Amino acid sequence: MRLASLGTLDTRGPAFFRYRAVGEHIVVTNLEGRWLLLSHDEFSAFATGKLNVDSPLYTRLSEGNFLRESYDVVAASEGLRRRKRFVHYGPNLHLMVVTLRCNETCVYCHASRADMDRVDTDMSRETAEACVEMALKSTSPGITIEFQGGEPLVAFDIVKHTVQYALSKNRAAGKQLEFTMVSNLALMDEEKLAWLVEHRVQICTSIDGPRALHDKQRKLRTLSAYDEAAGWIARINEAYGERGLDPTLYHVEALLTTTKAALHQPKAIVDTYVALGCRALFLRPIDPFGFADKTRRIVDYPRVEYLRFYAEALDYMIALNQGGTEILERYAAIFLTKILSGEDPNFLDIRSPGGAGIGQLAYNYDGKIFSSDEGRMLHAMGDSTFLIGQVGESSYRDVVGHPTIRAMSIASNLDQQPDCVNCAYQPYCGTQPEHNHKTLGTMFGRMRESAMCAVHKGIQDILFERLGRGGEVREVLERWTTVRPRDHFLHDPAPE
Ligand code: SF4
Repeated sequence: MRLASLGTLDTRGPAFFRYRAVGEHIVVTNLEGRWLLLSHDEFSAFATGKLNVDSPLYTRLSEGNFLRESYDVVAASEGLRRRKRFVHYGPNLHLMVVTLRCNETCVYCHASRADMDRVDTDMSRETAEACVEMALKSTSPGITIEFQGGEPLVAFDIVKHTVQYALSKNRAAGKQLEFTMVSNLALMDEEKLAWLVEHRVQICTSIDGPRALHDKQRKLRTLSAYDEAAGWIARINEAYGERGLDPTLYHVEALLTTTKAALHQPKAIVDTYVALGCRALFLRPIDPFGFADKTRRIVDYPRVEYLRFYAEALDYMIALNQGGTEILERYAAIFLTKILSGEDPNFLDIRSPGGAGIGQLAYNYDGKIFSSDEGRMLHAMGDSTFLIGQVGESSYRDVVGHPTIRAMSIASNLDQQPDCVNCAYQPYCGTQPEHNHKTLGTMFGRMRESAMCAVHKGIQDILFERLGRGGEVREVLERWTTVRPRDHFLHDPAPE
């Protein structure tokens, strides 16, 4: 097109938009992620350029930056810049597998566990130190080191050494440090707890639902895995209280892995979390990594069944909130923050470009570095596509600039992903190259066949439909986007 012809563009019609029918409404979104719910008649007037300039609809569309006539390029670019701030950070999540040994056996084990006598799968002190040194080289001003396994309490000496080493090295690195440990809690004791609380290590666990379901899926040799976890959740929360921490903010977080058996009991699962004192529930569908692949026929399900379960659990949680009980759903909170606030909470699996390598790194017990924990689990299953380095040998630049990370960043950029480019939810969504690679045989994936896309699209359909109901339902959903920071767990660098 010659420049001279630009002057002939029709400036009266709609600016760039994407749309999707949800319930009684049409969701329209623009480039920077602003959105409106329109009736079918309103949408028709908008899309065909037949708007009455004196109508309230015209004003709404103009204020939302949906019209060419009043299009605000600066506001659009500022909105996009705000949403994509994370691109400039560098890896902030550093996941360390301190051992593969685990005292529990879970039907869906994601972590490629090893039996308790496999001490050769414990991380050495030297490897742990090299992992910390790599993490502190990140350009991100904030670093979270997350201890995973196996079961990290099996290698508690390595956890302690890593925390102390990171704190001492951070005097020079000057990062804001956070430590998190994901544990089944069965090997917790008062001494370990006192150390973790003293060193401000956040503790997260897994709860699969009511006792019978949890114990069926997560097996301890002689004890009830549920009783062990529930007992320690209560004790840890009590320990936070003894330190004077606000119990509404400081409490154990738990993760749910939604198996086929869970789909029939959404309310019982929510009730279990509420009774345990949890304020959040992450209704994660089962993923295709680790042992879950071998047991898929037993635990997996069509995503349409998952979405039915999700909607029922979500509506129950909304009703509980209306009755004064605070409990939020994490997927909803992540998407709603993007939808309602214009900010991105930088959840690494749902962002564009995705977090692999440029937002997170995973370190195996032997010092191998992966794009993410999913990349590490694929390696354990015999596929080393996402192996990008070795601590002590690879430079930081080699790792984050690895050709695989470059390919993953391009593959997870939704601006060039077929289907996503036309999807109304593109401003809020994300894909995961490891998931695409595992399930579809290509990092880019094909969204029409992607179970992850089906989940993301389905959840956003449900959320926009509920937002369209307005009133108290919308008020509850808006509250879920105001997450207070847990500053107590932040370690600022001590002065030299
Ligand atoms: S992954 Fe699916 S829901 Fe998300 S933007 Fe792409 S097409 Fe839309």
